Amino acid sequence: MKKALSKKNLWDNAPSLIRTTLGSVLGMMPPKWLLGRSFREQTRFVERAQWWSAEHAREHQLAKLREILKLAYESTQFYREMLDRIGFRPGALECVDDMCRLPTIDKATVVKHLAEMTARSVDARDVDYVSTGGTSGEPLRFYINASRSSVEYAYLITSWGRVGYTLGMPMAVLRGRIVQPNRQGVRHDYDPLLRHHYYSNFHMTDDNMQQYLRHIHRIGPCVLHAYPSSAHALAKYILAAGELAPQCIQSVILESENVHADQVQTIEDVFGVRTFSSYGHTEKCVLATQCEHSRDYHIWPTYGFFELLDEDGAPVDTPGQEGEIVGTSFINTVVPFIRYRTGDYATYVGDRCEACGREHTVIRHIKGRWPQGGLIAIDGSLVSMTALNVHDDTFRCVREYQFHQSVPGRAALCIVPSGAVDEHEQQRIVVNMNKRLQGQVELSLEIRSELVKTAQGKQPRVIQKCISSPAER
Ligand SMILES: [Zn+2]
Repeated sequence: MKKALSKKNLWDNAPSLIRTTLGSVLGMMPPKWLLGRSFREQTRFVERAQWWSAEHAREHQLAKLREILKLAYESTQFYREMLDRIGFRPGALECVDDMCRLPTIDKATVVKHLAEMTARSVDARDVDYVSTGGTSGEPLRFYINASRSSVEYAYLITSWGRVGYTLGMPMAVLRGRIVQPNRQGVRHDYDPLLRHHYYSNFHMTDDNMQQYLRHIHRIGPCVLHAYPSSAHALAKYILAAGELAPQCIQSVILESENVHADQVQTIEDVFGVRTFSSYGHTEKCVLATQCEHSRDYHIWPTYGFFELLDEDGAPVDTPGQEGEIVGTSFINTVVPFIRYRTGDYATYVGDRCEACGREHTVIRHIKGRWPQGGLIAIDGSLVSMTALNVHDDTFRCVREYQFHQSVPGRAALCIVPSGAVDEHEQQRIVVNMNKRLQGQVELSLEIRSELVKTAQGKQPRVIQKCISSPAER
């Protein structure tokens, strides 16, 4: 896959000997200097902008929206035809609410019209070709500015600061990186520039997890940055083995998978610190990160233009009401994403956070896009994973679990047990879970030694293979 010659890409692909040698010298420098001037400027901007008044943020959004609409209209056939069809000129945008006059697009639109949506040559050195992950269905492929990583990183670093992370602090990372065993046989790799310790979450055996924990104990005050499923596997190992959670972990950052309440509870109980999560996507239209004072998510108003729409496409503005997350990217100027329906859902809370005072749109209960979202009942309806969060003792002998579904109304509950599970215990698990599902989905139990992971090392709670799913809508 084409990758731009950005500093980050070059560094990531450099032979490990070069990285080690150069890294030991460069590692003496503060990371914010190594990440470059545009990163430093972006970070300063983000730190300031998070405290802007709502009015100030709207002015900024209006200017950015006008810019992206002008670019899309003047440089792409797709948007020119779309806007001409409805008689809308980019200059006619007088306030951000005018955006609702434009049609929405979705994944299918981009798949079908990528060439006509592209605003400039994709052979340029500052353009990347990227793909969204997933366990079923076609991944979405499109072009995007290589500079997106440093822009997004500035937002993330600023957000992580809410739970005590500062750039240069060691980070223990369990997030889909391929890590070969080092000379001591530990699947550990070190980036001295960012001070990241990478461990392989593709190899979460008891022996490896014991080695990871021993290593983390030695790296000093740090944060754990992990897929929720990986942090959860580590927490369950600590419980099963009677190990001590590393006291040096100051907070646990959970990203890139749906975050389930039961996972959060186990992780926080075991590590004794709070978890912190963000919502974002490869399309770079919306970024939401949790508040330091609550579990609600704040939308970053300067990252992209966020809308929450109901089934009829009307804006959701009643607290407690759910809607689909729709975003317009301020970042991608190669393939403009304008009013892009993400297929993700969230509940509207308000336009100001009383806890911290930021005048940001606040949402909660973010539900990731199909098919990881749930099980399909016998009547074709979707059973949300929230209904299957298990807080009682049903899984007292279960290390990890995953649902596999290929027919509506039936699914296999695959479990990795903590120890031996006899016939009686297996029966108890199935009966308890089927009781929760109230006949909508009938579960059978399968004992596994490991669960299915994606190519990126993510471990979805549901592996959905039902053909007639709403994914194709
Ligand atoms: Zn807040």
